[in-house]
Amino acid sequence: MPRLIAVAVPVPALDLLTYRIPDTIALPVAGARVVVPLGRRTLTGVVVGAAPTPSGDFSLRDVVEVLDDAAFIPADVLQLTEWVGDFYLAGPGSTLAAAMPPHALTGRVDRFRTMRIVSLSAEGHDAGVDAGRGLRQKDAVAALKAAPDGLSAGQLAAAGISAAVVNRLHALGLVTVRKERVDRDPFASGAALETRGGEGARVLTDEQRTAVATLGTLAATRKFHVALVHGVTGSGKTEVYLHLAEQVRRSGRGVLMLVPEIALTPAVAAVFRARFGTGVAIQHSGLSEGERHDQWHRIRRGDVDVVIGTRSAIFAPLARPGLIIVDEEHDTSYKQEEMPRYHGRDVAVMRGKFADALVVLGSATPSMESYANAQQSRYTLISLKRRVLDRPLAAVRIINMRDEFAEEGPDVILSRPLREAMQARLDKHEQILILLNRRGYAASVFCRQCGSTMDCPNCSVSLTVHTGRNAWRARCHYCNYSRLVPRQCLNCAAPYLEHVGFGTERVEAEVAALFPHARIGRVDRDTIRKRGSLADLLNRFARRELDVLVGTQMIAKGHDFPQVTLVGVISADVGLGMADFRAAERTFQLLTQVAGRAGRGEQAGEAMIQTLFPGHYSIRFATAQDYPAFYDKEIEFRRAMRYPPLIAMINVVVKGPTYDTSMAAAADLARRVSEISKPTGGFVLLGPAPAPLTRLRGENRAQFFLKGTSRAAMRAALRQALSEVPEIARKTAVDVDPLSVL
Ligand code: ADP
Ligand code: ZN
Repeated sequence: MPRLIAVAVPVPALDLLTYRIPDTIALPVAGARVVVPLGRRTLTGVVVGAAPTPSGDFSLRDVVEVLDDAAFIPADVLQLTEWVGDFYLAGPGSTLAAAMPPHALTGRVDRFRTMRIVSLSAEGHDAGVDAGRGLRQKDAVAALKAAPDGLSAGQLAAAGISAAVVNRLHALGLVTVRKERVDRDPFASGAALETRGGEGARVLTDEQRTAVATLGTLAATRKFHVALVHGVTGSGKTEVYLHLAEQVRRSGRGVLMLVPEIALTPAVAAVFRARFGTGVAIQHSGLSEGERHDQWHRIRRGDVDVVIGTRSAIFAPLARPGLIIVDEEHDTSYKQEEMPRYHGRDVAVMRGKFADALVVLGSATPSMESYANAQQSRYTLISLKRRVLDRPLAAVRIINMRDEFAEEGPDVILSRPLREAMQARLDKHEQILILLNRRGYAASVFCRQCGSTMDCPNCSVSLTVHTGRNAWRARCHYCNYSRLVPRQCLNCAAPYLEHVGFGTERVEAEVAALFPHARIGRVDRDTIRKRGSLADLLNRFARRELDVLVGTQMIAKGHDFPQVTLVGVISADVGLGMADFRAAERTFQLLTQVAGRAGRGEQAGEAMIQTLFPGHYSIRFATAQDYPAFYDKEIEFRRAMRYPPLIAMINVVVKGPTYDTSMAAAADLARRVSEISKPTGGFVLLGPAPAPLTRLRGENRAQFFLKGTSRAAMRAALRQALSEVPEIARKTAVDVDPLSVL
């Protein structure tokens, strides 16, 4: 009987592979890493279990090496990676890397940092006060005697003990030197934000207390359950999470909390750390590899019972999770937009199911999906309708830009009411947020003679203008292609090039010109490239070293800046023009969230929304900050158009070197899917058609959709069709439950 194992390898879209274990090697356990040959390569994979003897004439290969005696990743996490691979049609090994510390699959295993610790030897102790020769050696012995756990090089230096003295004591046999593992601590390196208040436990409001009681009861059942906490901005959701987390920790189980982006929800990680001390680990891609490695091993060893991280932290090796929180659950950064295209929130729900845990989804603007689940009683809905300390929600005022243009001309960026409000707030030394969800200086360059715009040579989009050191630079926001803006049109050579539209760089310049004494910061993807720069900008704003923060949607997320009393939104309609069925939902979320940044402290706040479409329902309901009304209207639209969450959808994009090849391949694949599904039905297929972004990074893209009530039927048909045409499968991106359909 051959000893066969099934191995998941970190190669997308590859199925489980079967290998033989030679008699000389002990049978590895599930979750252990193994080195296996694949083609002419060898790579590291993970044992999933025993494999059946394959039928047919297979020549099986031997495992090269077994790296672990015990499971490297825990069984439930392994199960979760398999589920993700299957559900998202990504292959069983596609999320293994996310479930491990850096380099765990590249063979370089030992990445711990060690430190030399010096302590007195038995001889040194026995020698008593007479140990050592000379004053400096005697001093060193005395210092070491007072430190039974020994002293590190840094501590020795701080005590004025030189390396030479230590070496001499070592030569005399009076001290021993050992290596000790030290964990690199991301909190020490400043990757997290400073804590602002909130260190001690608070007296809960009535609403918070009821929420904690209900959730606590659900957690205590130790059964899988999902609750949606819909709490208006400033209702104190974090405090609810903290109290609940404390209960679950005390019951001996772990807490896993996802946040959209650590630096964007700073208060959260820092407050948890302040409340729970070193029992908290964080996991996100902003950490250095060393930090991520050490944090992962702290979790795996069971040194912590609270883990906070971004989407891939859902694969953290935390034992016995009893509570899984997804903060700002509507946030699109939970969706991974590359293979494997998983949604962190949905994976969190599955992890809760596998672990019999309570899953808490929290938001002031829940996703349509989660709210629909609550409406259908699949999730328990908990509402926090009031801000803490009875602070009022910001008063929101709409500014119709058609009127402003009529009055002040078409070039106005900051309307008169907004300018006046800014002046008034600056006079009172209060702070201001200005949102424009478009970065760059100008949206595009346009030739007044021939009408052409400067487009990206690799993608079907126009280039965005950015301020360079001493010239304008045009850049593609998809592939990063860039070039200087020429003096003459590249198409007709006319010298009449004009900037069209504007972005955050332009707004920053406007604010600076209008308010020369204001201290202004800008937060968008261009200003936060450097690690730590986002945290730095937000910290400066929190310390009130900045008066105005201009930025993209990043400034709308979860922040708690009590001194902000005015929020201005420039061009609220930026997102409404998108060919995306979620455009209204995104707009509503963004406006409600950003308005929610105003008036969180003692002074009441106001928000001003500049728009060309004051009548659009997403803008009207955001103005009223009325989520249920928005939901009711939006769900009607989704129902009428047969869009999620009322049906499930899969987006299939087939790439090719030319338009014709990609369309032909997509048509072939689509025809196969239709053939396969004919007897069972259960869904419709729309397309193929050119994707809205027809060219992207030099490739042409054709697209079709599957829509229906049975995700399983759609996935099965698609999986079979892909297996029939592996060469097309290689050029195909499958997106189950897509967020963006461009
Ligand atoms: P949300 O995430 O719901 O928008 P936060 O959790 O950021 O709100 O809380 C808003 C503010 O209210 C924070 O400054 C927080 O410290 C404070 N806060 C929360 N609960 C209480 C409470 N019970 N009493 C006083 N202040 C509170
Ligand atoms: Zn491009």
